[in-house]
Amino acid sequence: MVVVLLAANEERGAALRAFARGADGAAVRRGLTAERFHGREGQVVTVTIAGARRRLLCVVGLGDAAALDVDAWRRAAGRARQAAERHGAARVAIAVDERASSIEHIVALAEGFDLAGYRFDKYKSDAEHGVLVGELTLLTPTPLPAADVARRLGGVATAVTAVGTVRDLVNEPAAVKTPTFIAATAERLAADAGVEVEIWDRARIERERLAGLLAVARGSNEEPRFIRMRWRGPGARRRVALVGKGITFDSGGLSLKPAKAMETMKTDMAGGAAVIATMVAAGRMQLAIDVDGFVPATENLPGGKAQKPGDVIRFRNGKSVEVLNTDAEGRLILADALALAAADKPDLIIDLATLTGACIVALGPQVAGIYGNEQAVVDRLVTLGRETGEPLWQLPLVPEYRDDIKSPVADLKNIGGGNAGSITAALFLQEFVAGRPWVHMDIAGPAFTDKELPYAPKGGTGFGVRILLRYLAELAATPPDVPPRAAASHARPRRKPPLAAKRR
Ligand SMILES: [Zn+2]
Repeated sequence: MVVVLLAANEERGAALRAFARGADGAAVRRGLTAERFHGREGQVVTVTIAGARRRLLCVVGLGDAAALDVDAWRRAAGRARQAAERHGAARVAIAVDERASSIEHIVALAEGFDLAGYRFDKYKSDAEHGVLVGELTLLTPTPLPAADVARRLGGVATAVTAVGTVRDLVNEPAAVKTPTFIAATAERLAADAGVEVEIWDRARIERERLAGLLAVARGSNEEPRFIRMRWRGPGARRRVALVGKGITFDSGGLSLKPAKAMETMKTDMAGGAAVIATMVAAGRMQLAIDVDGFVPATENLPGGKAQKPGDVIRFRNGKSVEVLNTDAEGRLILADALALAAADKPDLIIDLATLTGACIVALGPQVAGIYGNEQAVVDRLVTLGRETGEPLWQLPLVPEYRDDIKSPVADLKNIGGGNAGSITAALFLQEFVAGRPWVHMDIAGPAFTDKELPYAPKGGTGFGVRILLRYLAELAATPPDVPPRAAASHARPRRKPPLAAKRR
């Protein structure tokens, strides 16, 4: 299958004539007219070419030419992959023109194509195992430097594998992916990536005084686990801590969720999975940066020993918290992990959590909220999110709202006053970072999709992994005398090589 990408209302003669002449050309024109193809984003028309060696010509709409960012090409490649799968095309060639001929575009096209190939069908009895798309060729006007392209595509493959790991873990039923299973998976994946893993069982968790994790785990018969990962990069000059929420199933505890809201609650470990997969990828990529991963993992169930609204717990940093809503459990287990991470005094802490429904109310299902006490880091991550197609939108840490999480009987309570729920959750987390540079991503919306996206099928999306990998790589390339908050402006500029062709 040959894929031609066209922007809205673009003159399409020349691009199509290159692949379909004469009777074939007429057939393609008829197909486009019949489908009212105008190059709108998401429009895909596939035409069978009679005589040619290439059996199918697929025309993918890019949308408005003036609004073409890098992710537009990633999405287009994802749609081309979907069309190839529908038509059983084993080999796909995408014609790339001057607009998408930089190495960044080549990387985005390959990434979108690979990400869109993800399937989770292990529980389907009638899973189709027909022709699988096995090869992508990018046809570019002139060659790109082969070594650069090979290196960058190696990075794409590692990132796509990491995204697949998160999707697999999120999509797995909670009955399978218990905290013990998540911990074993982290150990297995880390082993051949040179990443160190330590798994803390309940006894160790008690010794370490992880009060939030213990309190949440009380309602479940499944053993909690605390997963500690360490990547020590060759020649590393900075250290970043990654913290991820690992609730393998969230019933809400005694503050039980309604049935509908519980349907997708196996997703509540997406942040933890993103941390595990990012750590493993950092090892595979040999990133020259030290990264520490912290993933508290437990179920949140209303068993006979479950914590009760009104209970007070005391954290290892001395703060006491009145638990008024057992469904606000994410911040309790993150508090432990953030306090531990902060005690190591890293240059930066980044946490990812499917934390609040309020964030979905504010930003919808495709955008994550981002908070932080280092504006330059937040700005850089927002920019990277635009480039990777993982949109982040900054929400404010409003100091006045801290009053909403004050408790009459303890230092804090685990639920706000009803308004700005994502913000009060972030303010709660901030109490545990000991003033260290810190960024929090509330990924409750985009961690999971209930509709097909251009390069993510329904289910877990792997949101956040590609932003983190890019950011860590960027920090690793930053001179040691530059603080992480200023890293963005000091990272080595990416070379913009001339046009090139690459075959994988
Ligand atoms: Zn909850």
